[in-house]
Amino acid sequence: MNNKGKLIIISGPSGVGKGSVNGELLQNKDLKLEYSVSMTTRSPREGEVNGVNYFFVSKEEFANAIVNNELIEYANFVGNSYGTPRKYVEEKLNQGKNVILEIEVDGATQVIRSEDNVLSIFLMPPTLNELESRIKGRATESEDKIKARLDKALLEIPLKHNYDYVVENDSVENAVAKITDILIREKCANSTE
Ligand code: 5GP
Repeated sequence: MNNKGKLIIISGPSGVGKGSVNGELLQNKDLKLEYSVSMTTRSPREGEVNGVNYFFVSKEEFANAIVNNELIEYANFVGNSYGTPRKYVEEKLNQGKNVILEIEVDGATQVIRSEDNVLSIFLMPPTLNELESRIKGRATESEDKIKARLDKALLEIPLKHNYDYVVENDSVENAVAKITDILIREKCANSTE
């Protein structure tokens, strides 16, 4: 019997609401989910905490992590590098925990191709207008960066077919309910009923 946990990829365009959905999923202790904190060369946004939201590192530190094979996957996203540290993820999987990777599509594709025990979910915005207003609503990015994130979304959305499931994030509550059902159906979690 395989007691290892599953790698649960929650992917989708920037601004689709991955963070809010994952925040809610992590509250449900029955799902036995752990969150993988990524490494990034992006500067912290206001309120972001090192080691909680991301491990904020220099370009040199990121390059070293790649060379030392410390990342499961990595990708460049709108001018910054992002990657998943291997050690934490392997530790948790070996303990039988399910680990959430909140990552963009290039990294997700690498994980889907190279790892066993993966459940991949693509979160879709209800409409592109809605996505645009969510990205703009963050107000932490320059006009250029907002446009780059929207352009990137148009390239990412057609890749949704590479995923096991596509879930529309029409509301956080609905998306969380749909993903919880998927996790139970896929035997990542026991039914709580
Ligand atoms: P943001 O700058 O908005 O925090 O993240 C930009 C994009 O990078 C988002 O789609 C986010 O999910 C993704 N991302 C965050 N961490 C990782 C990671 O470790 N690997 C990859 N491939 N993408 C990541």
